[in-house]
Order: sequence, then structure tokens, then C-alpha cells
Amino acid sequence: MGKRGIQYFTLSEIEPRIWFMLTSCDFHCKGCFRPARDGGGTLLSSEETLKRAEQACLKYYGQLPRKAMITGGEPALDRKYLLALVKGLNEKGFEEIILMSNGYEIGCEENYASDLVDSGLTEAHIDIKAFSEDIHIWYTGKSNKPVLNAVRMLNDTGIELLIQTVYMPGIVDDKEIEKIAIFISGLNHNIKYRINPFAPTFAFEEVSRRPTIEEMEFAYELASKHLPNAIISRSCYREYPTPPSQETWITVYPDLTFKRRTIKDQEEDRISWLSHSKSKTREEILHELKPKRDNFEYRQKLEQVTRSFSPSSSNQGSNKKPRDSTR
Ligand code: SF4
Repeated sequence: MGKRGIQYFTLSEIEPRIWFMLTSCDFHCKGCFRPARDGGGTLLSSEETLKRAEQACLKYYGQLPRKAMITGGEPALDRKYLLALVKGLNEKGFEEIILMSNGYEIGCEENYASDLVDSGLTEAHIDIKAFSEDIHIWYTGKSNKPVLNAVRMLNDTGIELLIQTVYMPGIVDDKEIEKIAIFISGLNHNIKYRINPFAPTFAFEEVSRRPTIEEMEFAYELASKHLPNAIISRSCYREYPTPPSQETWITVYPDLTFKRRTIKDQEEDRISWLSHSKSKTREEILHELKPKRDNFEYRQKLEQVTRSFSPSSSNQGSNKKPRDSTR
């Protein structure tokens, strides 16, 4: 079994839980804003990863949390590693084990989806970047057939499933989003679907502009015709429908040093990543970012729309297939 690069673990002050940030990705999304995409981090086996994650949790929480989220980069690149990680978390008593993936590897390999669920995975969040094959290949460098296949196979296991798409005006807009919603509802109309706005600020390439709130709402209306559990949210959120506000996160590096990181620190990481990947100075990157930053009014409106899907107001059904479902 191979080793995977671990950039860091993240702990939350809101409730005990841990994120695993794995590096490297098999996609080259033009609008990617994740430094983990390009590899790096500390190479660890699944056993070493589990051991350090456990030490981090015990040191900070005094106990193991019940919730683990595995993200990246792309966490599914090494099947053996991922299955062993999920199994290990399950054996340690984690009750919610959530995978965030682009779905490609899961859809390429036979029984990968069912093996994940047999190992203890309880929920998967899969991105469908685009429904049209040509757009998907142009944007990610890969076909979307395995991604759609992964969604089908994960749905067949009965696992909790959340699909997300980034609205990119002129590329992946209302028409693409409705096609995705129709595809999902054809599998199981209770699957949760999240539409996120494209955020050009830290995107690797500024392929599109940020959508207007009205465009987002129109796409949401179209998706809701097919899916009762569609929402508008933001790519940085990792929960459905919307997490409580959080300003700082506890970052634990693989050498077990801790750092309280703010949104500003995360921005700095992205600036360093862009500077390094594009071989440009920090000043050049800052100069490019200035005109792209979201204005305050837009951020406020978006936050309002996003928060309208609070647990009390949203229609949150389980997407588990009913026993008598014929879908
Ligand atoms: S957006 Fe996600 S799937 Fe796409 S390149 Fe970045 S890390 Fe990979």
C-alpha cells in the first residue's frame, strides 16, 4: 500500500471533528483554488495517518470525535490507502465518516464504491463539475463518465449522498445545472444537491465571473423542480445545508504542531500557492487579485441567501433510498 501526502488535519472549535487534507489530484480544474491540488505535504501510510490524527484529537479534545471528513486534493487516488483509512476510522469508533471527492477514481474502479461503504464510509460528497462531456474535459482535463458512474454506484449502496456543482456563468450555468439535477433525480430524487457560486478571487485561472445572486436563484429554481433537497451554498462550506459561522480553525500539521488559522491565514496560503505555481512574485499575485475580490454587498447578499437554508428552514430529507423504492 502506498503513502499519501498529508498537508494538515483541521479541528473545529464548534464541535469535535477532524478533517484530513490529502494532497495531489487527478483533475486540473481551471478554476481550482486548493493548494493541496499540487501535491506536497508529508508522506504517510494509512496507519501513520490514523496514528497522528488520533494523537492530534487526544491532545486537543481529550477524546476522539465522532465525525471525520476526508478531503483534498483528491482523496480517492490510492484505493488501498483510502479503504484502510476509512476502515481504521470505523474501528476507532468514528460514527460519521465523510468523503469529499471528484468521483473519478471511484467511478473507474469496479466495487470501489461498495468497498468504501463496507469499510465504514457513511456519506460521500461528490462534485459534478459539468454534465456535458466537452465542458467537463475542457475544465478538468478528464471525462465525466466515471464521475457520473461513481454517483450511480454510491447511490446504489444507499449511502448518504451530496452532489455539488459550481455555477460558472457562460460555462456551467442554469442549463448545465438543470441537466445535472435531472440526472440526479433520475437516480434518486432525494439526493442532496448544492449549487455554489464561482469565486474568481483565488481561482487558478479566472475562467468566469462570479454569478449574480439572481442567476444563482434561477439555477436553484430549475434544480428544485427536480430535487427537493437543492440548496445554494458556498464551495468553502463542507456541511449541508450550512455550517455555523466560524472564523478560526485549528490546523495540526503532520509533525503535530498546532496553529490557529484564520480566514486571512488561508488567503495567505493561497497567495503563496499561486505565486509558486505561476512563478510570479507575491506582489504580482496581489496586484492580480485586487480587482477580483468579492465586494462587500455581494458577500452579504450571498451569505443571506446561503443562510436561508438553515436547518430550520430547509427541506432536509434523508437521501437514503426508501426500502420499497423502485428507482
Ligand atoms: S477543484 Fe478539486 S478536483 Fe478540481 S483540481 Fe482542484 S482539488 Fe482537484
